[in-house]
Amino acid sequence: PGSIRALHKDYRTATPQNFSNYESMKQDFKLEIPEYFNFAKDVLDQWTSMEKAGKRPSNPAFWWINGCGEEVRWSFEELGSLSRKFANILTEACALQKGDRVIVILPRIPEWWLANVACLRTGTVFIPGTTQLTQKDILYRLQSSKAKCIITSDVLAPAVDAVAAKCENLHSKLIVSQNSREGWENLKEMMKHVSDNHTCVKTKHDETMAIFFTSGTSGSPKMTGHTHSSFGLGLSVNGRFWLDLIPSDVMWNTSDTGWAKSAWSSVFSPWIQGACVFAHYLPRFEPTSILQTLSNFPITVFCSAPTAYRMLIQDMTSCKFKSLKHCVSAGEPINPEVTEQWRNKTGLDIYEGYGQTETVLICGNFKGMKIKPGSMGKPSPAFDVKILDVNGNVLPPGQEGDIGIQALPNRPFGLFTHYVNDPSKTASTLRGNFYITGDRGYMDEDGYLWFVARSDDIILSSGYRIGPFEVESALMEHPSVAESAVVSSPDPIRGEVVKAFIVLNPDYKSHDQERLKKEIQEHVKKTTAPYKYPRKVEFIQELPKTISGKIKRNELRKKEWKTI
Ligand code: ATP
Ligand code: MG
Repeated sequence: PGSIRALHKDYRTATPQNFSNYESMKQDFKLEIPEYFNFAKDVLDQWTSMEKAGKRPSNPAFWWINGCGEEVRWSFEELGSLSRKFANILTEACALQKGDRVIVILPRIPEWWLANVACLRTGTVFIPGTTQLTQKDILYRLQSSKAKCIITSDVLAPAVDAVAAKCENLHSKLIVSQNSREGWENLKEMMKHVSDNHTCVKTKHDETMAIFFTSGTSGSPKMTGHTHSSFGLGLSVNGRFWLDLIPSDVMWNTSDTGWAKSAWSSVFSPWIQGACVFAHYLPRFEPTSILQTLSNFPITVFCSAPTAYRMLIQDMTSCKFKSLKHCVSAGEPINPEVTEQWRNKTGLDIYEGYGQTETVLICGNFKGMKIKPGSMGKPSPAFDVKILDVNGNVLPPGQEGDIGIQALPNRPFGLFTHYVNDPSKTASTLRGNFYITGDRGYMDEDGYLWFVARSDDIILSSGYRIGPFEVESALMEHPSVAESAVVSSPDPIRGEVVKAFIVLNPDYKSHDQERLKKEIQEHVKKTTAPYKYPRKVEFIQELPKTISGKIKRNELRKKEWKTI
């Protein structure tokens, strides 16, 4: 197994202290891209060989629980055999060929992981969707992706049937259910009889492997094309450096199966490293069951979203998890107040990472590196990250600009290839030789990156540029504030001013609101530059969020500006 050795030449020595030398880490991340690459064959099947040869610890490759006592554990060999059966179902019963697109809308059940691997083995293009999609969303996804097959469960099958006639490309439907349904192939039934003899197709490294929908935080979700090497190889940067995984690790990522984040942390990054993927069915986010799972299972690495950490710290006193040694967060900025409370309660730091559906990890705090609270860490070895002005010139340290990634003359392989069906949007992401992320930030003298805001979220007030996150973090430090969203609001003199929408902690809901508002405003004036304080404050019950839990500031902003 030469390829896995090339990819993992140091996995045995990948100990945290190796990562403290940032420069050597960058040198170390020089992968040669083979002409043909398939993650199932070149990574998963290689781990099977290692496992058989006794060269991998005995922990499973996949470990699933449903919280009600049911468990599934697969070795790499079992994962291989089951996914080959699934692959045969895709090519035979579903009549799919290499390049055909498959939409997979499943909750966190083991079949979701098998579907991932079966698509790799057949070279079909995997398109995940969250189970919270409505009938309208499903129609949009089926039509815009031209998917030939859909795989889902009982819950969403009626929604698919209701729109299927309008989707001319859709010719096969596969249900994961105990019961049969007319017009649908039944996966569980077929798995009982189908052969596990399947030869993985050959895929070129630059052929499309999957299409991920972005979270839709700032508008309609975009379809983002990734190749076999962009995620299959590129995510090794996440696995090795940010998640700090070795084969004996058990990695739990809580994100929904519908997002690229699941590909990041529940599929490719852990399996590249030969680690165990842990999954909990968890249909709803329940802080108590998350804390219990961390206590009861030998999870060593935990990945969750800032929203989840905010909820967890509210629910916990102090916790010592017996195996947990590394916690990471991504998807949104995490408030320093949250990291501090997590550290006080668990004794563990949160290593923030920054990336997009379009990319692998862009920046991260790596084990062994000094964490600067509030910073996203340093550029990942996969990318050359720069701060740019409007003309594409690189800005010096300390100056705020657009976060960009060098993409020309050589496009780095951790970057998406295109937005599907949208060449003009794809082209608009380039400025000079750089891919523009759409996020604003700055780099400090030590090379750490600091997130300021999504470009659209910047508030311009009396000539000042204000990023909402800094104000939200200052607000978080006030004991009454559970969560907040800061947006611009119209003002006849200043043009726009800072407005904070605040969700109060339960103990403060009955307080005198006018007094509380003044107290909070004074608090922000003291903790950050006074011009940033929210001149307008509104207490609300709940913030508008995306399905993945991100704050939708643009929704609040639109409401503000319509009311002039
Ligand atoms: P859409 O592109 O549809 O509006 P989205 O940008 O939220 O949605 P994702 O690709 O899931 O979709 O999220 C990537 C974005 O999330 C980044 O561009 C950035 O704005 C934000 N983000 C991710 N990690 C961090 C982080 N650590 N700190 C700050 N922002 C982050
Ligand atoms: Mg985006």
